[in-house]
Amino acid sequence: MELWFTEKQTDHVGITLKTQRTLMRQESQYQEVAVIDTKQFDRVLLLDGVIQTTIGDEFVYHEMIAHVPLNTHPNPRRVAVIGGGDGGSIREIVKHDSVEKAVLVEIDEQVIKASRQYLPELSSGLDDERVEVLITDGIAHIQASKNTYDVIIIDSTDPVGPAVGLFTEEFYGHVFEALTDEGIMVAQTESPFYEPELVHRTFSRISANFPITRLYLAHIPSYPSGMWSFTLGSKVCDPLAIDGNDLHALDTRYYTPDVHKAAFCLPKFVQKLVTP
Ligand code: SAM
Repeated sequence: MELWFTEKQTDHVGITLKTQRTLMRQESQYQEVAVIDTKQFDRVLLLDGVIQTTIGDEFVYHEMIAHVPLNTHPNPRRVAVIGGGDGGSIREIVKHDSVEKAVLVEIDEQVIKASRQYLPELSSGLDDERVEVLITDGIAHIQASKNTYDVIIIDSTDPVGPAVGLFTEEFYGHVFEALTDEGIMVAQTESPFYEPELVHRTFSRISANFPITRLYLAHIPSYPSGMWSFTLGSKVCDPLAIDGNDLHALDTRYYTPDVHKAAFCLPKFVQKLVTP
């Protein structure tokens, strides 16, 4: 018998993965947390049936959400991740020697537990001595933090449930205040192909708060359309003005100094989404 898992990515499109078995499936206070084992992507973390990350292609997402802002900042010492309970972003952050403290602010402890048990490739970074894990709402944490972080990474679920507030203009204003003088934020901002209005709206909300706002892309096969966007807001440093020689060499599979620059070259239809 063959087992297949389907995520309906839109009302008319789905991704279907041949599945070996379900490793765990549990209702948490916030969502249904599940890990399945698939033929193509190895283990996959699902929240409410939506793919969050897969062992097969997570390196693209986590390297791009972490190294672009961290290599743009001249000396990132304190970094926060909002969401990101799988630990993949933290694993990349602690590759930077300048980082003295990395704080993971995840609302749902069950996500961290599931990742620690079934996705050690991702959660391994959580054991680094510079990492602090807070189980709390990232919105409240950011609101209460002033002039605290050099980089804030918003590694959130889609804008539904507890993540809705992570996509508001007000929240990005609090992120600005939580950042230090040369602070940089980055957020995962969904698929420009399927969610053009969301991408446009989110870019406008971030640019309403940050003098430098840039959108960049990465190719993530298990995400809707494969084309994924990240939006970076910065107080001073422009990710495009960095000399390639200043970008730290890191142990990566996707990110390189050339990819850092190329990721900001946008196809025309995406360019239009970020042009006022
Ligand atoms: N890479 C993923 C993606 O693009 O789909 C995101 C992965 S990560 C698992 C997203 C996490 O954000 C989830 O574990 C969820 O519990 C967390 N989250 C959602 N809203 C949150 C909030 N308000 N504060 C903190 N964490 C939140």
